[in-house]
Amino acid sequence: MALLSVIVPCFNEEENVHYFYEELMKNQTFFDEKELDVEVIYVDDGSKDKTVEEIKKVSVLDNRVKMVSFSRNFGKEAAIYAGFQKSKGDYVVMMDADLQDPPSLLPKMFSYVEQGYDSVATRRVSRKGEPPIRSFFARMFYRIMNKISKADIVDGARDYRLMTRQVVDAILAMGEYNRFSKGIFGWVGYETKWIEYENIERAHGETKWSFWKLFIYSIEGITAFSTVPLAFASIMGVLFCVVAFFMIVFILIRSLIWTDPVGGWPSLVCIICMVSGVQLFCLGIVGQYLSKTYLEVKKRPIYLVKEEI
Ligand code: UDP
Ligand code: MG
Repeated sequence: MALLSVIVPCFNEEENVHYFYEELMKNQTFFDEKELDVEVIYVDDGSKDKTVEEIKKVSVLDNRVKMVSFSRNFGKEAAIYAGFQKSKGDYVVMMDADLQDPPSLLPKMFSYVEQGYDSVATRRVSRKGEPPIRSFFARMFYRIMNKISKADIVDGARDYRLMTRQVVDAILAMGEYNRFSKGIFGWVGYETKWIEYENIERAHGETKWSFWKLFIYSIEGITAFSTVPLAFASIMGVLFCVVAFFMIVFILIRSLIWTDPVGGWPSLVCIICMVSGVQLFCLGIVGQYLSKTYLEVKKRPIYLVKEEI
């Protein structure tokens, strides 16, 4: 019998833990049909509510349920990585605990793996129920990201994916600290089938992503998968040199012909302000990459486990 590992990152999802289990097990006839053994790995990402107790309750009901609990909140990326490390399945799928990734799609996803795809990914075609400003920035991010990086990142892609062991091992081999899953999945390649579905609003509770958290995450994505911003500094430098050269020629000729007196210090101040602004901005970009490199070099563990079942 083949084993299917289901990875469920949970951060303050007490209302959803059991509900998710029930929804997933509605696929039991499908699992039996395909002779699939299932293991459910809940990864508790340092929840402050009763998530851990809820997971323990479910694991008493069903010994296929496992848990990894972190010592604090390490973020969803760390939770996914921990789930992958713990999974033993021939196939691995990860789903959000809030049922925004419908378990009822599993049979369809599995059919593509049977057809020979290495990975089946999902994307939502609508952003229904999301603030418009958020959708706008999300779209912008995908546009920019795809222009400046090699990792093929799909707009609206969710982290709901079914993968073969080979793909999971490839992802595990990428042991980087600054983990941007959407980029990592695109980067490893393999034959991927995309399935589309309408956005579903979360079952219980609130989203864990504030606008600010998403903004930081997008910067992380850019620094992790593109070095184009670094080239920006050089391009600006060359541009300013060229402009300055023509200005020097112009001023030289003008003062030779008309012996113009020195004037125009306000324009000088403006130029100094602008150029130093550009310099600081470029320095900031370099700083971003330096800080990421700093964290990588330290080789800190991606997560710390407090409890395991
Ligand atoms: N999550 C997590 N750690 C975090 C934030 C979120 O493990 O720091 C989990 C969360 O419990 C959920 C999934 O990641 O199962 C997606 O989070 P959420 O639903 O808040 O994000 P959204 O669907 O709004 O993008
Ligand atoms: Mg959600």
